[in-house]
Amino acid sequence: MLNLESNIKFIKGVGEKRAELFYKLGVFDVDTLIHFYPRKYEDWTNTKTVNEIENGENAVIKATMITPVTEHMVRRGLTLFKCKFTDGETVINVTIFNNKYLAKSLRTYEDYILFGKIEKNLTSASMSSPKIEKAADGIKIHPIYPATDRLNSKAIAKVVKTALDNLGEIPETISTEIREKYALIPLDRAIRTIHFPNSQQEYMKARERLIFEELLILQLGLLKLKSSKKEKTDVVINDDYSQEFISLLPFSLTNAQKRAIKECIDDMAKGFPMRRLLQGDVGSGKTAVAGALIYTVIKNGYQTALMAPTEILATQHFESLSKLLEKAGVKAELLTGSVKATEKKEIKKRLINGEIDLLIGTHAIIQNDVEFKNLGLVITDEQHRFGVKQRASLAGKGEEVHTLVMSATPIPRTLGLIIYGDLEISVLDELPPGRQEIRTDVVNSSYHGRIYKFIKDAINRAEQAYIVCPLVEESENLDLKSAEEYATELSENEFAGYNLGLLHGKMKPKEKDMVMKAFAQGDVQILVATTVIEVGIDVPNATIMVIENAQQFGLSQLHQLRGRIGRGNKKSYCILVSDTKSQTAQNRLLTMKKYSDGFKIADEDLKARGPGDFFGERQHGLPKLKIADMLEDMEVLRKTQECAKEILSEDYNLDLPKNKQLCVEITKMFKDIDY
Ligand code: ADP
Ligand code: MG
Repeated sequence: MLNLESNIKFIKGVGEKRAELFYKLGVFDVDTLIHFYPRKYEDWTNTKTVNEIENGENAVIKATMITPVTEHMVRRGLTLFKCKFTDGETVINVTIFNNKYLAKSLRTYEDYILFGKIEKNLTSASMSSPKIEKAADGIKIHPIYPATDRLNSKAIAKVVKTALDNLGEIPETISTEIREKYALIPLDRAIRTIHFPNSQQEYMKARERLIFEELLILQLGLLKLKSSKKEKTDVVINDDYSQEFISLLPFSLTNAQKRAIKECIDDMAKGFPMRRLLQGDVGSGKTAVAGALIYTVIKNGYQTALMAPTEILATQHFESLSKLLEKAGVKAELLTGSVKATEKKEIKKRLINGEIDLLIGTHAIIQNDVEFKNLGLVITDEQHRFGVKQRASLAGKGEEVHTLVMSATPIPRTLGLIIYGDLEISVLDELPPGRQEIRTDVVNSSYHGRIYKFIKDAINRAEQAYIVCPLVEESENLDLKSAEEYATELSENEFAGYNLGLLHGKMKPKEKDMVMKAFAQGDVQILVATTVIEVGIDVPNATIMVIENAQQFGLSQLHQLRGRIGRGNKKSYCILVSDTKSQTAQNRLLTMKKYSDGFKIADEDLKARGPGDFFGERQHGLPKLKIADMLEDMEVLRKTQECAKEILSEDYNLDLPKNKQLCVEITKMFKDIDY
């Protein structure tokens, strides 16, 4: 008998070698195996005769074998096995490639189900390597698992079947009352059915139950992670110094910026830790809001931290903010992975002593050995790049610090509310004045000559340009421009005598910094880059964004890239270069010409790519889901949010016996999420 913890190698027919193959799929024990769901199904219930099938169609045919198998060695390594079947009307010539095991198992005058593509001729039909099962076996809907080269779907199905047959009842996670309320079938039945459904209806019920369960566990976990919210804090911001900071700026704030600053400062005065999300499209001026809050909190006697997802961005924030704030006597430091160990030690010492007011950095800030004397506010920029755990861990840096997360990712509002749960939200729904609409064009590569000329003209006006390529290095199988190769080519030919810079993710942080600095100062005129410049980079003097092989990028990504220009008051141009022949791809690119609003573009992106891609797990830092889909299953997500609150209000610590198993599952789901 097996139990959920049994290692996969103890299942009959698996053993050490096979187990290794399962490990690669993330399947380690019976528990992970039974939650390794089929990717799709082949419905073998609907059998037809050859006469009912179109030539070339995929079909399921019930047929009797009428001749023994003959073996034909074509050459070394290629043996064909041939035999004939009949469906009662038509003779079907079947060829099997190399699969001796299958060929030897077939018996004349037995009934089989053949699954595959049919080729019809005048009087007979043929099938090449169809899937063949004994009709007597009676499996009707075949699960298709995400397989690997050496472990095919059929083999996986067999192991799952053996495991389920040798496993007692799977412990129930959801209490009877909740199951009744939401019309959910028992977990044991759902799991067995999802692997081997007997009908479409049965399958749907199983799927419903498992999606509900997964999203419920997600919601419970998130609610518990956020539970620190109601606790009081001693960090009370009584005095508003934002005006002083604003007077340091070379521009006046938009109303949206002013409103956001006020909302935050009011929040921080209440005696409860602020938990707020600042959403604003690219270029809406989130950094100035952050600056005003940082300044105010420091003036109230606390330390502050600002975290960015990349070193480039952290460095950029440091350069711009520390320049401003130093005038007002604020001490800022930059802490990233590339800061030398001795320097790091020094910074840490000064942090504990309270000699540093503002620490800017990447994830390195939240490593455990960084301690503050009296941290009051933590701001994370481009929030969607952080994992849930990182958010939690950062908040743990001070007793009960205020946190603000800033994001330019336009996520549909309802989804945002669910993912960010009880965060308050401020929105910058207004761009700074004087911004000109960016002109966007979609062209093919025959325009390169004109594009280069256009860039040269801009450089003559002392402006700068970005050229973005999808790849870093030359690629063998794709005809795509790589940044490295392209930069060399341009600097030797078209732009000989100009200053070109190259920036990509594989460069050392120090090198990246140098290039970025040179570009920001105007020493580099053209920056050839990969998408490392996608987030946050701010060089207002850059007015041209050329994106090569633009069809390779998602719309939201293109929007972020385009957001790198049009940041000053000069007219800016985005040129999407693509030779795609696909009408869909072409239309997708034209969306960029049509819309400038990030939310509109996100909607289009969603329609074009489907939710799976749009919400790649890393985008929001939530655990990987096995069966549910945050957008497709939005209705269920809402229901489970309600349900999770119900459960927690009755049994906050999930101590009751009926909720015990839920607790186990929450721990499991959240154990791996710390990117
Ligand atoms: P994002 O919201 O994308 O992070 P930034 O904070 O980088 O935007 O701001 C974009 C640019 O707009 C920066 O160059 C910034 O100095 C400028 N900016 C911000 N607020 C204003 C404003 N109220 N008026 C004029 N320019 C502004
Ligand atoms: Mg920004």
